[in-house]
Amino acid sequence: MTFSVHGITVSRGIAIGRAVLVASSRMDVAHYFIESDQVEAELSRLVQARDAVVQEFQRLQHNMPRDAPPELGALLDVHLMLLQDEQLGAGVHHWVTERLYNAEWALTTQLEQLSRQFDDMQDDYLRERKADLEQVVERVLRHLKGAAQPVTATPPPRAPRQQELLLDDTFDVPLVLVAHDLSPADMLQFKGSVFAGFITDVGGKTSHTAIVARSMDIPAVVGARSASQLVRQDDWVIIDGDAGVMIVDPSPIILAEYGFKQRQGELERGRLARLKNTPAVTLDGQRIELLANIEQPADTAAALAVGAVGVGLFRSEFLFMGRAGKLPDEGEQYHAYRAAVEGMHGMPVTIRTIDVGADKPLDDRRADTHLNPALGLRAIRWSLAEPAMFLTQLRAILRAAAHGQVHLLIPMLAHMREIRQTLELIGKARAQLDAAGQVHGPIKIGAMIEVPAAALSLRLFLKHFDFLSLGTNDLIQYTLAIDRADESVAHLYDQFHPAVLRLLADTVAAGARHGTPVSVCGEMAGDPTMTRLLLGLGLRSFSMHPSQILAVKQEILRADTSKLAPWAHIVLESDEPAELLAG
Ligand code: PEP
Ligand code: MG
Repeated sequence: MTFSVHGITVSRGIAIGRAVLVASSRMDVAHYFIESDQVEAELSRLVQARDAVVQEFQRLQHNMPRDAPPELGALLDVHLMLLQDEQLGAGVHHWVTERLYNAEWALTTQLEQLSRQFDDMQDDYLRERKADLEQVVERVLRHLKGAAQPVTATPPPRAPRQQELLLDDTFDVPLVLVAHDLSPADMLQFKGSVFAGFITDVGGKTSHTAIVARSMDIPAVVGARSASQLVRQDDWVIIDGDAGVMIVDPSPIILAEYGFKQRQGELERGRLARLKNTPAVTLDGQRIELLANIEQPADTAAALAVGAVGVGLFRSEFLFMGRAGKLPDEGEQYHAYRAAVEGMHGMPVTIRTIDVGADKPLDDRRADTHLNPALGLRAIRWSLAEPAMFLTQLRAILRAAAHGQVHLLIPMLAHMREIRQTLELIGKARAQLDAAGQVHGPIKIGAMIEVPAAALSLRLFLKHFDFLSLGTNDLIQYTLAIDRADESVAHLYDQFHPAVLRLLADTVAAGARHGTPVSVCGEMAGDPTMTRLLLGLGLRSFSMHPSQILAVKQEILRADTSKLAPWAHIVLESDEPAELLAG
């Protein structure tokens, strides 16, 4: 039966395919595709982990105190039985051999399937066995996690490329990822993989998971609440990224309609692609800078492909995430920054120092347990609390600057003493390199304006920095007191709020007066419905994911800033700017 699930649109377009559920387990597990020659090794990892748990249970049975309650023995029998259950074993085998899921993913997928069967059971006793099954699976997962990866597996795991999968008839249909939640690091792992679209239960439009999804340039929806509960593995689904909807089990008529929409979208993309080499100049001759946001050095290829004139935001934290505490050293970082700099062939690359914390945990397995992580030890606060780590990063960036134009961008500054400490540490990193005889290059230093306190004390920032970059994702979050990753308040996350527009307008105007370049690198810069307003407010530099650049350029080519400026002023003074923009 056809039904639809509504969420928040993240990335436009239509995806039609079969659902791949990334099951949510109480234990955080890795999800990745293995190579076909790793199947045997993966199955033997599973057998070893299962046998280890069997032995654990048998030991417990053997050492059971005489006065132990009889239920305990019975429970162990049940657990042993579940462990050796045919359906569990055969199902897991299927996901590994047919779908090339890694052992942990296969196990949690099968658990999810069996759990649904348990939920449907009439008999209370049998229904309650679901909890036992979960416990047993978690024990196996724990053993898998502890067990060393087989030598034949090549870390880090990589999802097979599209062509490889197309050779295999198991994957002859597009796949759509359905998950309760995915960390930004997980999401990054899926970048460049087979998925044609994705949907998650949680998250807001500017959560970091959504941002990475947008960079993948596939239709995506977040905040769809119970999507992962309602969809089953292999269901046919349509992701409508334009409307923020997933349609499950679509009828042939609906499929045909969306197939048509999908082709229309492809034609539109083809038309936009022709704008790649067209200079971004408005009708009244204003030249606009279109820069790219990237997460990895390899993303520079996508930036060049759409004609970006530089990188306006390299979110360096993605080099640090999901590494189980083993952070990249100076050499590794230097090579990554240098690769990005060289990848842009002489165009400027803005490297933002690490911004971890809140919805970008360093390590998924060590979630932030503070009550308000977005207000906690995040971004520059974290760097200043870890000066050795920060100096390592600064030295690596300064060394990369010997290979091209590097702009250094500092996130989340608010206080004068943070500015002072940061600038001192940059000076110290330079002195350390000099003392060691290491080559380094000149850099421009910029600050993100993403905390209202910064936008309200621009004087300090204009005095100390070469350029400013408006982080509208956080500026909206902190101005409106709305957690950007919380779907339950997503309706209040309003980029048109008069307070937000006022802070933006004042920052752009102050930069222009002072002769300090100001850019916007939050998601707003890549939203074509915002382009005219931002131009009207005087913005001349936009940084966004490469996937958005051509659509924004199209708006720029049609815009006349001499007409947009007075109109933007009216919008700014309006009580309901969103209504004015809609009208
Ligand atoms: C922002 O806050 O707008 C921004 C660009 O930084 P991030 O999204 O990484 O927090
Ligand atoms: Mg930010």
